[in-house]
Amino acid sequence: MAIDAALPTQPSDAPDLAGLREQLTGHVWQPGEDRYAELATPWNVAVRTSPLAVAEVADADDVARAVRWAGRSGVPVTVQSTGHGTGWDLAGTLLVHTGRLDECTVHAEGWARVGAGVRWHQVLDAAAPHGLAPLCGSAPHVGVVGYTTGGGIGPAARSFGAASDRVRAFDVVTGDGELRRATATQEPDLFWGLRGGKGTLGVVTAIEFDLVLQPEIYAGALFVDGEHADAVVRRWLAWSLDLPMAASTSLAILNLPPLPSVPEPLAGRCTVAVRFVWTGDPDDGERTFRPMREVAPALIDAVQTIPYAAIGTVHADPVDPMPVRDVAALLGDLPDAAADALLEVAGPGSGSPLVIAELRRLGGALAAEPAVPSALGHRDATYALYAVGIAAPPVGEAVAERQERLVDALRPWATGGAMPTFVVSGSAPFLPWDEATRTRLDELARRYDPAGALRTGLV
Ligand SMILES: Cc1cc2nc3c(=O)[nH]c(=O)nc-3n(C[C@H](O)[C@H](O)[C@H](O)COP(=O)(O)OP(=O)(O)OC[C@H]3O[C@@H](n4cnc5c(N)ncnc54)[C@H](O)[C@@H]3O)c2cc1C
Repeated sequence: MAIDAALPTQPSDAPDLAGLREQLTGHVWQPGEDRYAELATPWNVAVRTSPLAVAEVADADDVARAVRWAGRSGVPVTVQSTGHGTGWDLAGTLLVHTGRLDECTVHAEGWARVGAGVRWHQVLDAAAPHGLAPLCGSAPHVGVVGYTTGGGIGPAARSFGAASDRVRAFDVVTGDGELRRATATQEPDLFWGLRGGKGTLGVVTAIEFDLVLQPEIYAGALFVDGEHADAVVRRWLAWSLDLPMAASTSLAILNLPPLPSVPEPLAGRCTVAVRFVWTGDPDDGERTFRPMREVAPALIDAVQTIPYAAIGTVHADPVDPMPVRDVAALLGDLPDAAADALLEVAGPGSGSPLVIAELRRLGGALAAEPAVPSALGHRDATYALYAVGIAAPPVGEAVAERQERLVDALRPWATGGAMPTFVVSGSAPFLPWDEATRTRLDELARRYDPAGALRTGLV
């Protein structure tokens, strides 16, 4: 797929969806039919998607048939699993839905093979009895494949690097409709581009990746009242700069709504969360985290030894679909002036409507290039900014305006990039790839998808 190609216009003849139906073991759903709305609706319900049809594929051969049909019919192809990363309307596309590709095999020797419909929590549960752990993100209910093809920066990323750095192999249908296997030695260009290039080169049907031996972590979140935000933000910025690789951390200024699902001390007020994941000895973790515990009294202190399989509790991201607008950016070192900027736009008393304004400390294992190079770049960034608000009245407009202000306020420290997993549409202010990476992805797209059948929306 040419990343910068414009969406083609609809072919003059109506595409032969009945012909596609006949070819697939799975189902084809059109607007108004049973599962169309369910499968086409992404997790972020603010994104209204309207694909021409949804191919609910049953296996890898179905994917190949669907992609070939789309190529012949002049219909662009997109792919979705959970829809956590879908940010454009998919109009006129054939949406390949991978939910039924549910193979999930964990090998006790330390690796896993999973289908493109599998979510991280399934791998966490299957790996835990072996003391093994996958490099999932903060929200274990997102899909393994979409996350990993975008790099995948999880709560333990400073210890173990990006999820894409641990991939052994992909089974993938490229835009020309061929089912291929990509490894470090087989189709190495494809292997390079699928790790960090998101869905630009093909529809992955299965993925194989290494697990780490990590039965437990010293991890969780410490919450303090927003009145201490100034002290906590400044201490965290200084403390987080100098952490060993065993420590990963993020800081979030939260304005959580007064809902029954939100713990009472955090509901309806501004709070600050310091998240911490320590992969070494828990006593060392406790000592390392102590400076953050000493800044201010805790509303909730949930940093403790937990099974790795409970890593989703560190961020406790929302599971149910909701209308959100998010923005992401990568930042360099943040001096005191950056703390001033963050607090002025997103801190307590700023009137910020953002539910969350978060900084993740990067570096550690993430900073190192993997042994087999990949399309995932931006490894020199020190922090990642991620800010989310509700994209619906009465706050929707204020959220968009505040996100813009936040990005402007922190722009002096922005690297100009963003991690691909956090970029959901081409209208994002920062780019997932530098010029050289994007050019190489484009060249590969032309080789593997000469007709430009695949679409990602990352224009
Ligand atoms: C609450 C929340 C928390 C998150 N936390 C993190 C985090 O900690 N770290 C992080 O790095 N990201 C995080 N993300 C981003 C998230 O991981 C990405 O949006 C990811 O794409 C979700 O994967 P999915 O398969 O569920 O996505 P989908 O929405 O189903 O797909 C999104 C995109 O992924 C690609 N894709 C999906 N399936 C395939 C396939 N089979 N073959 C090829 N490409 C495919 C395509 O480009 C597709 O457009 C978070 C997102 C949310 C909403």
